[in-house]
Amino acid sequence: MNGDWEIGANTDELDRFARAVIELADGTRISLVDPRALSSITLDKKGTSSLPKLGREASDRALDADYLAEALKRKKLAIKPAIMDQSVLAGLGNIYAAEALWEAGIDPRIPAASVTSESLGKLVDAIRRVLSPRNRRPGRYAEERGTERFAVYDREGQACRRCGGVIERIVQAGRSTYFCATCQRE
Ligand SMILES: [Zn+2]
Repeated sequence: MNGDWEIGANTDELDRFARAVIELADGTRISLVDPRALSSITLDKKGTSSLPKLGREASDRALDADYLAEALKRKKLAIKPAIMDQSVLAGLGNIYAAEALWEAGIDPRIPAASVTSESLGKLVDAIRRVLSPRNRRPGRYAEERGTERFAVYDREGQACRRCGGVIERIVQAGRSTYFCATCQRE
């Protein structure tokens, strides 16, 4: 997907880069506007979908330990790549996955299915905290980089602000994971 959907009336002038147009019976027109013409559209039969099945949104208020326990119970992955799996949790990126695991005191290397429900409860609270709008202000990362913006992310070799241990970096599923092996012990 490269273009943008535009919604207007079917009497509006059509954008010169409109590549596909859907006109609804009520006079609404939805156009796919894509100057580079790189988008593709898939038509699925009713009741089927070619989209990957997504898990609950990480920022969803309904996210809880029970949901995570169910989603993780058959996962063979370690907990860090497991919570970045879009079929488990949608929208939790690499930085915030590492930060949330540090806040919850969970070792990113342990098997996802072995995390206790108590720790999953802490993890849900931690995900909520790291994703809160206060922590995600646009530009904040650039402004505060190097000034302890993150507890573990990009801090390899530095002291853990909770226990003074050394932040380590490992690679999991092709992505860097930063963590403190001293206090992330669950
Ligand atoms: Zn620590």
